Amino acid sequence: MSQKYDHIGIEYDVTRKADPEIARRIHNHLQVIEGSSVVDIGCGSGNYTIALQQMGLEMTGTDISSTMVDSAKLKNHDISWIRADANELPVEDSAFKGAISTLVIHHFEELEGPFREAYRVISEGRFVIFTSSPVQMRNYWLVEYFPKAMEASFKQMPPLEKVRTLSLMERVVQDKAADCISLCRPFICEPELVNYWKTNKDRKPKCSSCNKCVEGIYKGRPIDCILKTTQE
Ligand code: SF4
Repeated sequence: MSQKYDHIGIEYDVTRKADPEIARRIHNHLQVIEGSSVVDIGCGSGNYTIALQQMGLEMTGTDISSTMVDSAKLKNHDISWIRADANELPVEDSAFKGAISTLVIHHFEELEGPFREAYRVISEGRFVIFTSSPVQMRNYWLVEYFPKAMEASFKQMPPLEKVRTLSLMERVVQDKAADCISLCRPFICEPELVNYWKTNKDRKPKCSSCNKCVEGIYKGRPIDCILKTTQE
């Protein structure tokens, strides 16, 4: 896998920059004080690692691709850059106050290994992930201009049903890959979901995380699931 990203890394920075609003939100979700040590797992060429360092955090960037890590090193010498597999980070337990992964988890072959590592290397902090589901991506403005390229991108993203069964969530907590898992929108879609899971822990929630229910807030409407409306 590192060969693929070594190839992509050659021209990666031509089209990619850190978005200031996304960086601000990641920083906010980390809930750490200035100077806290945070690891960026799958940092790529380091755009978000550097953005968060400039916001006052002591950053470490890790990536499986040596091309990406070399590119990051050229941009910032004050950050510790490590070439490493997300499944085996060469750092001690509880070495950081927080961890981030920005548009990376769809590259992990399995989620549990990297998540377990993130849990191991952070003390009592948060692991903040920025990602997108295939359904959410269908609303991106890029789809209008690059439909074929975006269709290929949808297929890369982790389908939510992969991470939202009760059986998987129980396993993740029991294996200490996370302290807890919270859900919100699946219960807006199916308030009776817990009852379904009593008899079938592998049942997949209907919610596709399209975010249409949230739009109601801005239009003065109560939050409700569009699937419920369209089914009525
Ligand atoms: S509107 Fe979309 S995101 Fe909201 S609950 Fe329904 S399926 Fe889920």
